[in-house]
Amino acid sequence: MGEYYLRKCLDLLEKATPIKHRDCGKQCLKRCCGGGLNDAVFLFPGEREQLSEGSFEFLKTEANYGFDALLCGGKCNRKHRPLGCRIFPLFPLATEVNDGIKICVVFDPRAIRICPLSKNTGIISHSFIRSVKRAGEYMLLDEEMRNYLLALSEELREYAFLDYKLGCSNKKMPIFTVCS
Ligand code: SF4
Ligand code: SF4
Repeated sequence: MGEYYLRKCLDLLEKATPIKHRDCGKQCLKRCCGGGLNDAVFLFPGEREQLSEGSFEFLKTEANYGFDALLCGGKCNRKHRPLGCRIFPLFPLATEVNDGIKICVVFDPRAIRICPLSKNTGIISHSFIRSVKRAGEYMLLDEEMRNYLLALSEELREYAFLDYKLGCSNKKMPIFTVCS
């Protein structure tokens, strides 16, 4: 069942890009595709199996809730890029509320020091924001994905708060919302 929703998320974001009709990577020389040994991309539940035909190197890591990460060397076939790269620099933050779980699209706090769009979120395309939100909503429909999303959302809140407390973030708020 999880594979179905993962595929929906991947398809939703196959063509969507942060800035409409423009390749944002041309402005920043693809800073989010560093490709170094420390630039492993964390995979979502079930992604490892779907990407096994690609040309990536996979890593076992304790840091990703038991799911693998990949090393891409900074190059990939865009058609096979993982979900984490498709939603970057945004994140569908999940929050438990009284009547369920709410998805709110935020600027991923891990992206703030990498991505120049953090200084001008107003140019991020609305259709990209909507696609990230819908992807988050699909994730809630599968138990493994939902648990992963909730755990990662909590980690990102703590990350953003610590970053803010230590004065590393240039933002006034510990985490900032693009669309709720
Ligand atoms: S770092 Fe930001 S602006 Fe640069 S390619 Fe990645 S998403 Fe686009
Ligand atoms: S997998 Fe592709 S999109 Fe993702 S960081 Fe590597 S080169 Fe960039």
